[in-house]
Amino acid sequence: MLDSDVAVITLSNPPMNALNAAMRTELVEALTRFAGDDAARAAVLIGAEGRFVPGADIREFGKGLSAPGINVSVRCMQASGKPVIAALARHALGGGLELALGAHYRIATPDCQLGLPEVNIGLLPGGGGTQRLPRVIGAERALALMLDGKSIGASEALTLGLVDAVAQADLLQDALAFARRMVDAALPLPSVDARRDRLQDTDPALFADLRRQNARKWRGLLSPGLIVDCVEKAISVPIEQGLAFEAEAFKRCVGSPQRAALIHVFQAERTAARIPGLEGVAPKPIHRAAVVGAGTMGSGIAMSLANAGIPVTLIDTTQEGLARGIGIVERNYENSVRRGSLSADKAQRARACITTGLDLGSAADADIVIEAAFEDMALKQQIFGRLDEVMKPGAILATNTSTLDVAQIAQATKRPASVVGTHFFSPANVMKLQENVRTEQTAPEVVATVTALAKRIGKVPVLAANKDGFIGNRILAVYGRECDFLVEEGATPWQVDRALQGFGFPMGLYLMRDMSGLDVGWRIRQYREQFRDKSLRYSPIADRLCEAGRFGQKTGRGYYVYDGQGPSAKASPDSEVERLIQGVSAELGIARREISDQEVVDRVLTAMVNEGARILEEGVALRASDIDVTYIYGYGFPRHEGGPMFWAQRRGLDWVLAQVRQQEATQGRLWAPSPTLVQAAELGRWPD
Ligand code: NAD
Repeated sequence: MLDSDVAVITLSNPPMNALNAAMRTELVEALTRFAGDDAARAAVLIGAEGRFVPGADIREFGKGLSAPGINVSVRCMQASGKPVIAALARHALGGGLELALGAHYRIATPDCQLGLPEVNIGLLPGGGGTQRLPRVIGAERALALMLDGKSIGASEALTLGLVDAVAQADLLQDALAFARRMVDAALPLPSVDARRDRLQDTDPALFADLRRQNARKWRGLLSPGLIVDCVEKAISVPIEQGLAFEAEAFKRCVGSPQRAALIHVFQAERTAARIPGLEGVAPKPIHRAAVVGAGTMGSGIAMSLANAGIPVTLIDTTQEGLARGIGIVERNYENSVRRGSLSADKAQRARACITTGLDLGSAADADIVIEAAFEDMALKQQIFGRLDEVMKPGAILATNTSTLDVAQIAQATKRPASVVGTHFFSPANVMKLQENVRTEQTAPEVVATVTALAKRIGKVPVLAANKDGFIGNRILAVYGRECDFLVEEGATPWQVDRALQGFGFPMGLYLMRDMSGLDVGWRIRQYREQFRDKSLRYSPIADRLCEAGRFGQKTGRGYYVYDGQGPSAKASPDSEVERLIQGVSAELGIARREISDQEVVDRVLTAMVNEGARILEEGVALRASDIDVTYIYGYGFPRHEGGPMFWAQRRGLDWVLAQVRQQEATQGRLWAPSPTLVQAAELGRWPD
């Protein structure tokens, strides 16, 4: 379309404007027409329906990309010899931003988000992004943006020089006016490809530093390292060579198995927030929140709310308790500012959202209260009874319990429909999972609200039914149990940890147990001993360690021995623990044997998957992919393996079933295959 003397090229692919082959083909045609049309002195590239392009259509990646690529459009823009202005609204992400980088100028709406988030799905920006973004904003900032996978707003983009203007009123009118100004000024057309000014001041140590600093985080991942390689290339070679290098690297990512796993996680995360039966149920507005208990979890939860700008009152019973909690909050903010992950201004604004109170009455005007006091049913019931008296009608009463029956907590109130579980993970200001627990009485509106709240505070919501252990801890129990059995049969805790870390977990089970403290689980087991089915296999190793006063890092000794106390202490294997374990094996009449790392991984994972199948059967999780999301965001399961249920499907569900049956033959009914696993093995996939 021609607006007097400026061509307006509109990108349209409802509903989201995702970039696909058809759109790329039409764009090349439109740009070719523009180049040959003497009446058009400039072009504005804009998206339909008030949105630019949120990225490529990810369904294309599985099938292999068909021509023409983004760079063909970019070359058309550059070859036209006339100004092309990209007008960006809502999202200019991935391929959207890569297209925009090919234009001579960029103008964005104030609410536009810009970024190259391909790393999140195991890819790299393969449409020239790794070569052009560093030319515009410098290598260091470009790498941070691409490796982080997050987006930035229009005002930051303006400061960085990524956009040339922010639209004041109407994007199209502003872009047209901008185009005409450029034509009238008759300035030489700027070309990103020809630029080297921002590349020249790159610190040569940047690339090696990044690889070293992230070695652990990127273990097993392909695309982050390749992004660094591509940008390093951009510094030293002309654009055409850099683009060819990027295309090769992109092909490697597309062809790798982790791309499918990461795309699965990307989709699973979005699916988890969609709850059948809640379509059209509007979440309640949350203007204010309160958190009860200023301990480890309460302070982290308060920070998560405050970071999203929600005013929150943090409540504890004593001034010392509050001071300790606020101390945790302030130290965390100071550290984030020092590390550069949060600006001082943002930290200050978030800190200002947190006020304190010594009485539950100070939660009265909150729209939601999240209880994170000690894990004790009587205490929680007492707190909920009192909250019921003080909270305004319609307020949501949530608990962070990890093991208790949420319905029983709700019985202490006259409004069980307003009671829900919101289970956060430690450290709560960092871990992304929010496992929401619905009782039979929880109102749909309440579930919709905690789901929306999770998204608002940057968490990933997963819905679980109110059954012992919910999703995450129930699988964790089986995971831990199988590790203990492997240790009884011949493995050592450090071998198990090494094998699990080799698979991709950031931390092995025993290091994790030592870190969180062995005494908590010991107390729970002592209480539950009366209900335990004595006919089932049970490992006493953890109890024996506690009886010996080994409570983990906090006492300097647990499964490992530590060269001090606190989180920075170094863990080493301990011969005393080895002797204790050998004693247990002998006592149980188990002949210890050589166990391979592969056996550790296979047995632990198949045990998790069988329990996952039971969880599906019992309706504790809505779908297999929700279990994957839970394990990735709450328990450090490697993203690039797609979660335990995805791993099982890829490994072969019939293979998993055969493994489970083999264990059942030796270990008995703890390993009885779940009927859902049997059914899935027949179907070749998890049931919908
Ligand atoms: P914590 O011991 O660090 O903190 C509990 C806080 O609650 C203390 O500051 C205490 O003074 C306060 N408190 C006790 N009674 C209170 C009352 N009546 N009113 C107000 N405050 C009161 O405990 P935590 O590790 O933060 O755990 C809190 C809850 O979160 C528990 O239910 C726990 O099971 C759950 N949880 C813990 C973790 C974890 O890793 N620590 C993870 C998920 C869930």
